[in-house]
Amino acid sequence: MSIRTRIAPSPTGDPHVGTAYVALFNLAFARSQGGKFLLRIEDTDRQRSTQASEDKILQALKWLGLHWDEGPDIGGKFGPYRQSERSDIYRKYACRLVEEGNAFRCFCSAERIEEVRKSQMKNRQPVGYDGHCRNLKSCEIERRISAKDPFVIRMKVPRHGQCVFDDILRGTISIDWSQIDSQVLLKSDAMPTYHLANVVDDHLMGITHVIRGEEWINSTPKHILLYEYLGWDQPEFCHLPLLRNTDKTKLSKRKNPTSILYYERMGFLPESLLNYLGRMGWSMPDEREKFSLKEMFEAFDISRISLGGPVFDIEKLSWLNGVWIREEFSDEQLANRLSKWAFNEAKLLEFLPHARDRIEILSDLAPLGFYLISGMLQIDRSDLMTSDLDEEQIIQVLQYLIWRLEGLKDWNREEILSACNFVSIMMDLKLKIFLGPVFMALSGSVVSISVMDSMCLLGREMSLARLRHALELMGGVGKKKQKKLEKTFNDAVSSALI
Ligand code: GLU
Repeated sequence: MSIRTRIAPSPTGDPHVGTAYVALFNLAFARSQGGKFLLRIEDTDRQRSTQASEDKILQALKWLGLHWDEGPDIGGKFGPYRQSERSDIYRKYACRLVEEGNAFRCFCSAERIEEVRKSQMKNRQPVGYDGHCRNLKSCEIERRISAKDPFVIRMKVPRHGQCVFDDILRGTISIDWSQIDSQVLLKSDAMPTYHLANVVDDHLMGITHVIRGEEWINSTPKHILLYEYLGWDQPEFCHLPLLRNTDKTKLSKRKNPTSILYYERMGFLPESLLNYLGRMGWSMPDEREKFSLKEMFEAFDISRISLGGPVFDIEKLSWLNGVWIREEFSDEQLANRLSKWAFNEAKLLEFLPHARDRIEILSDLAPLGFYLISGMLQIDRSDLMTSDLDEEQIIQVLQYLIWRLEGLKDWNREEILSACNFVSIMMDLKLKIFLGPVFMALSGSVVSISVMDSMCLLGREMSLARLRHALELMGGVGKKKQKKLEKTFNDAVSSALI
C-alpha cells in the first residue's frame, strides 16, 4: 500500500505555526515511507475563508521548504484540491446517506436550536441536537420540501454504547456516543460542513494516514461513523499533541506570536524553525538538537512521538537559530540571506517615499528606519505613558486597537486608518492623542514616519506583535478585565453596524 498523507488547512487567518508543525510531521511520515504528501484547502466556511489567507498559507509553507506532491497550485490526479470546487461531490454523498437512512433532513429553525441549547445548558445536560426531526414521516418531509422549507442534513448517531478506535500514538480510545452530536453534514445552502467534506476527500484522495492535532479527537467518532455508513475503509488516525506556551497553556497569540509570517519577518531561518518544530514531541534517535529536514526524514519514526505537551519556546528557537547561523552559514551565505530578507532595494524603495523629506544626509536614514527592520523594541512601560492618557486608557487604547486590527481583512492604509478612527471615536479621544502610545509601541520613538505608514511597512504580524508586547508591558489584561473590555468593544462594534 502506498502511504498518502495530507495537510488540510482552513484559509481563515494567518498561517499558524501549528499548521507548519502538523504539515512537517505528515511530510516526514510520507517521505520516510516512500509515500506522497498533499495539500488540500478546506474552505467550507465561506464566510471566514479568504483567498488572501490561502495565498499566505501556501507562501508560508513554501518559505519553510515544506513541499507537497499534489495541491491546489500544482494540481494532481485527485483534484480539485480546494473544497469549494468540490460541492457537487459532497452533495451526492449527503443524498446517499439520506437515502440509505443514515442521515436525515432537519427543518428546525436556528431559533429552535438555540432554545434547545439554552435549556440543555440550564439543566446541565449534554448540549446537542435533540433528535426532533430524526423520525419525521415521509409525507411530512415531502410536504415541507414542496413548501420550500429550508433544511439541513444531519447524520444519525447511535444513542447508546461507545465508539472505540485506535490511534497510532494513544492506543485504543473510547468515546461515549451520548457525547457525540447529530452533526450537520450539509448546510441549508447545500454546502458541506467540515466533517462530511473531510471524510469524503480523505477517502477519494486515497489518504492512508490522518495525522492531525489532538483537538480533532472528539470529531473522530463522527468520521469513523461516516466511513462505516459509506462502506469505506477508514484511514489510520494519529493525533499529535498540541503545541503549548511556556506556561503549558495551548499556544495562543496573546502569549506567543503564532503566525509563521511573524517568524519570517523577525529573521528566523526556515531551516531552524523546521528543525525546532521537528523537536516538538519528537527527537532524533541520538537526541541531537540540530538536524536538517533530510536528516529528519531519514530517521523519522512516528512511534517516537511523545505525548507530553511540547512547549514552543521562542528563546530556545532563537538559540537554535544562532547555532544554525554559526555552524551552517559562511559570511557570503549569510549576506545572501540578509539581502533576501530585508537588506534589499525593494525594501528601501518601500521606505524612501516616506523618508526622503526627513533626511539631510544619507546617514540620517539609519536612525529613522531602524525600527522597520528590527525585531521587538527595547522600550519599557514609562515610554508608553504619555501625559495625555492615564494607565487604564493606554491599556484600553492598545487592547481595543489590537482587536480591531485583528479583524481587518486587508492590511492597507485605509483600513488601518479606519480601525484607528473607530477606536478613537469609541473612546472619545482625539486621534492624535489616541495615537501617542500606539506610535511608541510601534516605533519606539516619538519621531518617525506616520503611524499608518509605519503599520503598512511593518506588516500585520509585526505591528500586532509590537502592540501586544506593549500591552504586556502595561501589565496586560487579566481574564475578568478582558471580559469587561470585550463587552464594551462588542457593543461599540454592534452599534456601528446598525
Ligand atoms: N481543516 C481542518 C483544520 O483546519 C483540518 C483538520 C484535519 O486535519 O482533519 O485544521
